[in-house]
Order: sequence, then C-alpha cells, then structure tokens
Amino acid sequence: MAPYLDLVFDIPAIQRFTYRNAAPSRKGAGSPAVFGKRVMAPFGKRDVLGYIVAEREEAPANLDPQNIREIRRVVDGECTFGEEDIALAEWIAAYYLCGLGEALAAMIPSGRRPGSYPTLYGEGEEIAPAPLVLSTEQREALETITAAPGAEKPMFYLYGITGSGKTEVFLRAAEDTLNKGKSVIYLVPEIALTHQAAEAVKARFGTLAAILHSGMSPSARLSEWMRARRGEARIVVGPRSAVFAPLRDLGLIIIDEEHDGSYKSGNTPRYHARQAAMRRRTVSGALLLMGSATPSVEAWKLMEEGQIRRLNLSRRLAGGKLPEISAVSLEGTEGCLTPQLKEEILKTARMGRQTILFLNRRGFAYFYRCPSCGFELTCKHCSVSLTWHKDRGRAICHYCGYSEPPPGACPRCGSLEAGFRGFGTEMIEEELGRTFPELKIRRVDADSAAGGGLEKSLGMFRAGMIDILLGTQMVAKGLNFPGVRLVGVILADTGLHLPDFRAAERTFSLLVQVAGRAGRYFPDGKVIIQTFRMGDPVIERSTALDVEGFFRTEIAQRKVLNFPPYSRLIRLNLRSRDPVRVDKAAGRLADLARPLLPPGADMLGPAECPIGIIAGNHRRHLILRGPDMGPLHGAVRTTLLRYNKSKDSRVYLEVDIDPVSLL
Ligand code: ADP
Ligand code: ZN
Ligand code: ZN
Repeated sequence: MAPYLDLVFDIPAIQRFTYRNAAPSRKGAGSPAVFGKRVMAPFGKRDVLGYIVAEREEAPANLDPQNIREIRRVVDGECTFGEEDIALAEWIAAYYLCGLGEALAAMIPSGRRPGSYPTLYGEGEEIAPAPLVLSTEQREALETITAAPGAEKPMFYLYGITGSGKTEVFLRAAEDTLNKGKSVIYLVPEIALTHQAAEAVKARFGTLAAILHSGMSPSARLSEWMRARRGEARIVVGPRSAVFAPLRDLGLIIIDEEHDGSYKSGNTPRYHARQAAMRRRTVSGALLLMGSATPSVEAWKLMEEGQIRRLNLSRRLAGGKLPEISAVSLEGTEGCLTPQLKEEILKTARMGRQTILFLNRRGFAYFYRCPSCGFELTCKHCSVSLTWHKDRGRAICHYCGYSEPPPGACPRCGSLEAGFRGFGTEMIEEELGRTFPELKIRRVDADSAAGGGLEKSLGMFRAGMIDILLGTQMVAKGLNFPGVRLVGVILADTGLHLPDFRAAERTFSLLVQVAGRAGRYFPDGKVIIQTFRMGDPVIERSTALDVEGFFRTEIAQRKVLNFPPYSRLIRLNLRSRDPVRVDKAAGRLADLARPLLPPGADMLGPAECPIGIIAGNHRRHLILRGPDMGPLHGAVRTTLLRYNKSKDSRVYLEVDIDPVSLL
C-alpha cells in the first residue's frame, strides 16, 4: 500500500493534491486505496469525493509531511477508472480548459455503490438473428463500412432520409464489430430516443449490451459502467456521456442523429460528444459512423471535402414515401389552427389514422404586453418574458422557475387591454379540444412529461389510443409511429428570430425531422407547416425537403460572415449578481485577450449576452474567433492565467470551446 496518494477533485483547478493514505483498518477488512478508485477526503472544511490519479512512495519535496492530511475512507471496492480513462480525461481538461477532476466527474457515473438495472430483453450471450432483409442501399453501405481498411479508417456518414433504415445498418455494423471481438459505443440523443434505441440494442445483443442514460439512478449507471469496464458488456448505448464508456478494444463509435444539440454539454466541461468521439477514434483506431437526415453544417462541409465518406440511403423501406409538404400562412387566422390544418386533421381521423402536432413553446401564452404603454411582464430575476400557464394559474419563468399570479390590468398604466399573447402548447390543446371534441388529444412537453408521463403517452399513441399527439421537441425527434399520416407544425418561426448564427440551421433541421414523422409506413403522408413568414428561404427549403440547397446557401453565408465551419470560436462567459463588477471583469478580460489574439483572429464583445440576466446573474460574454483552434486556444490559456492572478471572486467565469449557443 502506497503511503501517499495524489487526488483530483471536481473543481476548476489543474493541481493534484497529495494526501496520506489511511492506516489499514483495524478490523482487517476494507478496500485498499489504490490508483483508479474514488475516496472521501477532507478538502477545506468539508469531506469531498476525490479521484486517486497516482500512488506515491514519498511526499512531494515542497510539502511538509506534517501538513499532509489523511484520506477519510475508500468509496469504491473495485477500480472505477484506469489509465485509458485518465488519458481521455486529460485530453478533455486540455481541450475544454477545465480541471482533470471536472473531466473525470463528467465521465464517471456519480453513484457510490453499483446498483442493479433490470435488463429489458434476452438473457443469453447469443446475438439474436437480424430479422430484416437489407435493401440494396443498406447492404452496400454496410459492406463499405465493414470492409474499411484497418489502418487509416475513414469516418463514415450515413446520410439517409427519415425512415430510410439507418438503425438497421447501425445494428449490423455493431454486430460485425462484436463478431470481430471488438466493442461498440452507440450514441443517441437524449430523452425518448434513448429508450427506443436501448430496446433495439438489448433485443439484438442481450446481456452484451449496457445502457447508460440520465434517467437511470447514479448507482444503476455505475453498475452498467462497471459491466463495460470488466468486459461483460461490449456494446454501450446512451446519450452524450456514453462516449466515455470504459470499453477496451473499441472498434466502432456510432453517432445517431449527429446534428442533435443534446450532444453538446450545457455545463462544465462543455464537451461535444462528436469531438470526444473523434478523439477516441484517433487513440483506438475505431471506426466512426455518424448518421442523420439533416447533418450539421460542420459534418456536411467535411463530407463535401471528402474527409468524411458519405453513404446514401434514399428510400423509405417500411412501405412509406416522403410526405407531401405544404406551407400555410397564419396571417388572418383566428386562433392557432388554419382551415387547411383543421381539414386535414379531420380527414386523417376519419381514415382512422393519427396526427402529430408540433410547437416549440410550452405553456399557454408566452408573453404579456400592454398595447397602451408598451409594458412587458418579465421575470424578477431574468431578462425574459413570463409565460402564462393556465393550468397552474401562474405566470412562470422558463429560465429560473420564478412564478407569480398574472396581473389583471396593466401594472404600469392600468389599461385593460394588456394581456398575454402568443400561443403555447396549452393553448393549442384547448383550441383542439373545442374544435374536435370527439378526438382524443394528448399533450407531451416538459410540463406533462414529469414522472414518466412521456413514455406512457408515447405508448398509448403507438397503441392507437390517441388521435392527436401534441408536443414540443419531444415529438420531433426520431419517433417511429406506423399510424401517423399527418404532421402539423403550429408555428415554424419560433426559432428564426433568435440572435444566433445557427438559428437557420436549427430551424431547418427541426422542420425536416418533424416532417419525417409522417408517412413512414403508408405512402400518403402529409405535412402542414404554419408560418407568418411565407417565402422565408428556410421555410421554403424545408417545405421542398431541399437539404442540398439549404446547405449550399447556408455554407456560403457562413463563409461571408466568417462563422463556423469557416472559423473556430471560443466563448468566455462571465456572470455576477453585481452588474458593475461583471462589466469591469469583462472589460479587463477583453483587455488581456486583445493583444494576444493570433493572426487572422478577432474578438466580438465584450457585450451583454442576448439573455442579459438569468436567475439574478448579470451575464456578459466575449467571443474569440479565429481560423484555427490551436492558436486561439493558446491565447485563451494565457489570458486566463493572467486574469486569474487578480480575479474578482464575485464574478464567475466559464469557458465554452466551440459553443453551439450564443444566447
Ligand atoms: P431512420 O433511422 O433512417 O429514420 P429507421 O431505422 O427508423 O429509419 O427505419 C424505418 C423503418 O424501416 C423501421 O420500421 C424499420 O423496421 C424499417 N426497415 C429498416 N430496414 C428495413 C428493411 N431492410 N426492410 C424492411 N423494413 C426495414
Ligand atoms: Zn400599460
Ligand atoms: Zn427567471
């Protein structure tokens, strides 16, 4: 047993901390503290979870052995991480500019003791035979993938329209990899899709599969993590963080719905699963296989340049055809449903088929305005409008959760014309109920999904017990329901006004994905897109399903504006309760960064973030932009070192490498 241990903690620090190993327990039992385990150790005034990243025979020369504290206890019986995990964590810490402990904390499930997780299907080690005969396109794609040479394996992209059978190709490629004795990571977007993909993988690969998703308890996730670490599970399915699965002999990484925003972490380290997957591919020589009907602009450009090899799937396989899509103007419509949409809903119901309605806004009405004096009702703690939630009788902030009773008359001038405007899912639900009293309607959004409601609703919809499924993002992604004939987008414009260079890309891909839920099994699918912006190029391209045309103009525009993929970005976010301090800190940070900017780079800001205040914190940002990440990275590292020497402890700074949102 080594007398000293080096620990790292989940804190923004690059140091390792040396501790004295605990004397062996008098009872003789207890797990020894060794490299790869987690321990509780005193840190400041508290006991904190630490990761043992090294064992040492002697204390570091600069420390007085008298002052070295002792660990309290060992958390893990078995090692939860090894050299390879540390190497990956070191890469994350270096690339995303965070502490090693922060990186490890993002990778390893936080459970303290492995729990059990019910297996969904099949118990045997046997791989269940694949039930389908592949189409020619699927077979050709699969053969190209499985025949890829060992040495410089290319990256592949399965570019296939919605419903073209990408999943089956993923599963076969996984099977081939497992048969070659190697292991597989299979990434899927958050929420409903995780469940759908997990079931498919469990059904095919039985106990060889492990599931890691955020809906599981930390201890259940730790169990699955340990099964992968021991080599019992060789295919791991899950969202973003599954990219860190501790598999040896990695042969294949699949990223389904590559364009999806949930692959980028929203807190430190703000890693992107695609970036981490590329890193793991470089280290292990594994194949990287991505897929989507609407690739990210970044991936599209790499395909055009030949760095990613594109495999096309152009036909729907389950008997469906691409739906007929039309845009309809909302101008002059009373309520939120155009006559065209109402007619199609009725027609669909009469055929005994189903409808999905999509609106990216929950609540009843999403802003309060007074036409007389211009007053707007905003959150007390955030610079955003309050949303009226009729079923709870409160005006609620979607950023911090603050709520208050709705005002009657305008709080500023007393006008009775003031009120909530703009529609949310609750309002649509009410209008649908009034218009179609005979139809069964179900709303799924973050408000209704709490407590397992989502899966129940989806199950009922699949079983045909619901006529109209109305929801937010949750109904847009990847769902595969045979009975759906009609998809209606209540308002296509919600994301288009956002001050973000990715607004068009996001809206386009969302519309194409939502449209893709229609007509998967029958050739009569129909999509109606309601909009106040008839003629908008994004709306027109998505109505025409013109993916190529969209990318051509979007990529040309990015080039003119010098935004990714033509440049790389690093965003520095500052926040503080005190607006004066945060302004000062932002100014100082900018002054430090400016002289360090590499050739060809520029700096946007310092400026107030588009959402200026969240939960009482005033937000400022600084965006560094340059042709290459390397030099930009160097500039930011030096800036941070200088900034940290005399930073204002009441201003919190966060680094975002390759930010996907600038709000
Ligand atoms: P995608 O992920 O490309 O949107 P899916 O993988 O969900 O599409 O496939 C759509 C449907 O096509 C599924 O119901 C699937 O079972 C079916 N399917 C896939 N491959 C075949 C095939 N070779 N023959 C018949 N049906 C298929
Ligand atoms: Zn007023
Ligand atoms: Zn708020």
